[in-house]
Amino acid sequence: MAEWTGGCACGTVRYRLNSAPSDAGWCHCRTCQLNSGSPAMAFATVPFDDYEIVKGTSSVSRFASSDFGWRIFCGECGTPLGMHVQHQPDTIDFSVATLDEPGRLAPGFHIFYASRIPWAEACDDLPRHDRFRPDTRGLSGTEPPLQTPLP
Ligand SMILES: [Zn+2]
Ligand SMILES: [Zn+2]
Repeated sequence: MAEWTGGCACGTVRYRLNSAPSDAGWCHCRTCQLNSGSPAMAFATVPFDDYEIVKGTSSVSRFASSDFGWRIFCGECGTPLGMHVQHQPDTIDFSVATLDEPGRLAPGFHIFYASRIPWAEACDDLPRHDRFRPDTRGLSGTEPPLQTPLP
């Protein structure tokens, strides 16, 4: 299998996935919109320990994007790299677009579709969920509190 590698826009941060990613999907939540400056972000999942920063570790910054998770980004150029949530402590969700070959990993669903920007309707037949997918791992029928918009 070809390696899964990626990095930020300025080249400071480089990472490698040490196992094949899974569960790729679009997120249309307001935090993703603000974090990326785009209508939605595509994430996929790997075990936490398999997301290995191989260059620029000291430039990886983070901020608390909600009261149940944080996001990491390149502190030099701002590229959003991934997010980590309390209810899934053993995995990390990374930004698919930051892969060197993002076309290898296609999203399979949409979440937080209820908060999509009206001019950013998806033009695919993938499942669409208003918020989280049912049976999201770690949530067991509940959801974290609604996020308050960033100022
Ligand atoms: Zn950078
Ligand atoms: Zn989101």
